[in-house]
Amino acid sequence: MRIYDRILRDHIALVTHAAGFAARVHAGQTRKGESGPAFILHPAEVADLLAKALEQPDADLVAAAWLHDVVEKTKIGLEEIEELFGPRVASLVAEVSDDKSLPEAERHRMQIETIGEKSEAARLLRLADKISGLRELAEDPPAGWDIARRRDWLRFATDVAAGCRGLNAALDLLFDQAAAAAAGSIDEMPARPAG
Ligand code: ZN
Repeated sequence: MRIYDRILRDHIALVTHAAGFAARVHAGQTRKGESGPAFILHPAEVADLLAKALEQPDADLVAAAWLHDVVEKTKIGLEEIEELFGPRVASLVAEVSDDKSLPEAERHRMQIETIGEKSEAARLLRLADKISGLRELAEDPPAGWDIARRRDWLRFATDVAAGCRGLNAALDLLFDQAAAAAAGSIDEMPARPAG
């Protein structure tokens, strides 16, 4: 086998392994959307966004996209991710994992404050994460979220994305489209629940 083919095979195997691992550890988890979508659809979308948009193919980054919520949402730790997927994948996951011991408002503030210190790859991952979150907000929002909560999340996503812009024009555009769709869906909500 040519060296190029061997490297390509290893990269495909890494991403496939990450996808299967994420599906296994997120099994049974659902997103907050009213229709109760399987959680794995979110990392799948983030990985898909990056796989298609990256100008420089980066298997570690796409694998990290599959795994980006594993530390926050499961019992798997960074050591295990490093052991299975290598130090760069683990460090990318670490860069986008919030400290779950903090309250949500504090975690959001930290995400906004620290985004500028993250690596370029972590900022692209974070941007794709927010595109996916805004698409959900527009298309299948959490049942209990009122207008104010949706507006807050849109503002939070926009503030984080501001620290990620200028790295990838395709993702910047997709973010703007997702933010516009989310804002439109919020504007269409009745001011207070009917009845
Ligand atoms: Zn996420």
